[in-house]
Amino acid sequence: MTGTRTLYRDLTLIDGTGAGPVADSAVLVEDGTVAYAGPAAGAPEADGATETVSLGGRTVLPGFIDTHVHLGVADGRALAVNHADIPLSLHALETAERMRVTLAAGVTGVRDLGGADAGFRTAQESGLVPGPRMRVALRLMSHTGGHADFTLPSGHDPHAHGLSVTEIVDSPQEARVAARRLMRDGADVIKVCATGGVSSPSDTPDDEGLTTEEIAVIVEEASRHGGRPVAAHAQGAAGIRNAVLGGAASIEHGYLVDDEGIDLMLERGTFLVPTLATFDFEDRVHLMTRKAVETKRALAERTFERIAEAVRRGVRVVMGTDAGISEHGRNLNELRHLVSVGMSPMDAIVAGTRNAAELLGTADRVGTVEAGKLADLVVCDGDPLADVALLGDPGRVVMVVQGGRVVKDIRAS
Ligand SMILES: [Zn+2]
Repeated sequence: MTGTRTLYRDLTLIDGTGAGPVADSAVLVEDGTVAYAGPAAGAPEADGATETVSLGGRTVLPGFIDTHVHLGVADGRALAVNHADIPLSLHALETAERMRVTLAAGVTGVRDLGGADAGFRTAQESGLVPGPRMRVALRLMSHTGGHADFTLPSGHDPHAHGLSVTEIVDSPQEARVAARRLMRDGADVIKVCATGGVSSPSDTPDDEGLTTEEIAVIVEEASRHGGRPVAAHAQGAAGIRNAVLGGAASIEHGYLVDDEGIDLMLERGTFLVPTLATFDFEDRVHLMTRKAVETKRALAERTFERIAEAVRRGVRVVMGTDAGISEHGRNLNELRHLVSVGMSPMDAIVAGTRNAAELLGTADRVGTVEAGKLADLVVCDGDPLADVALLGDPGRVVMVVQGGRVVKDIRAS
């Protein structure tokens, strides 16, 4: 991108910092980086070498970051059986296609919490495959019979052969070794299961998972390697508390968080990634087990109450969709759900941009449209502060810029 200079003008800027929208703004991109973002009146002059792009009054936002995806998982398929019936080459190509549609949805960065190996991250970084920049967990860690143990009642373990997405540990020492194995294999984040879940065959969201002591050991081990964060799958109240006390950076799902859990999260600055899009499941029940459907229906009402309470109390919320469980390529539908639990459209946007970058530890480079940051931009038709749901429609996300490069442009001329 060396030597390129593009001035975007005729736009309303929502920069992701939480500051109000600024009409009649301009964004200057130089060599893939934002050189200026703000009122057009203050923008540097365009010289002969500058390409000028008029956005016709559209809104520019930062590229979004989805902090909980499973790009390796086909829509609605259980992680356990995902790769069992197709060749791995097809799995890889399908995953590349999911990366492409995710980027086209306005998501320029993701954290993959299980099911994609480090090769996908490398393929994106090297330009081989278009997609969001990836942080990967590779596999998820639980105890025997926990959320990562897909052994069926028949005794059949779908992970005994082929591509495994699980680490099973039953002591602090085994947890430490598994964390080391994951980091050896290229994990940027360690995913632990602090409770059971909806999709695992032998536990429920209220079952506790790894102990506080085991989680603390993993957190300590990860912190010794560049401060890699630990993301805790946690749905029931007791497991959520265990994960926060163990030092997890984020609670994934957090559906049934209780008041004590909220207190602890506020005290420790733990992020909450509520993945509410997973409750848009009624049109895909045919893809789910009966247990999963029943569990999910039973959870819904209480979840929306408890997440709303966490929002009201001021827990730091970050956007994540659990895409793979929810639909790929519709990631920004989550913003509508965040508004439904009491966030303002602006707060929801910040949850998907600046806050998400903070959780990933990349806020110095991405998450806001400010001078010095990478030029990750989303251009939409309409006013997302009046109707945040429009961002969930990829047809209205008319342009996506990643690191200064235009990766999608469907603006009507
Ligand atoms: Zn997940």
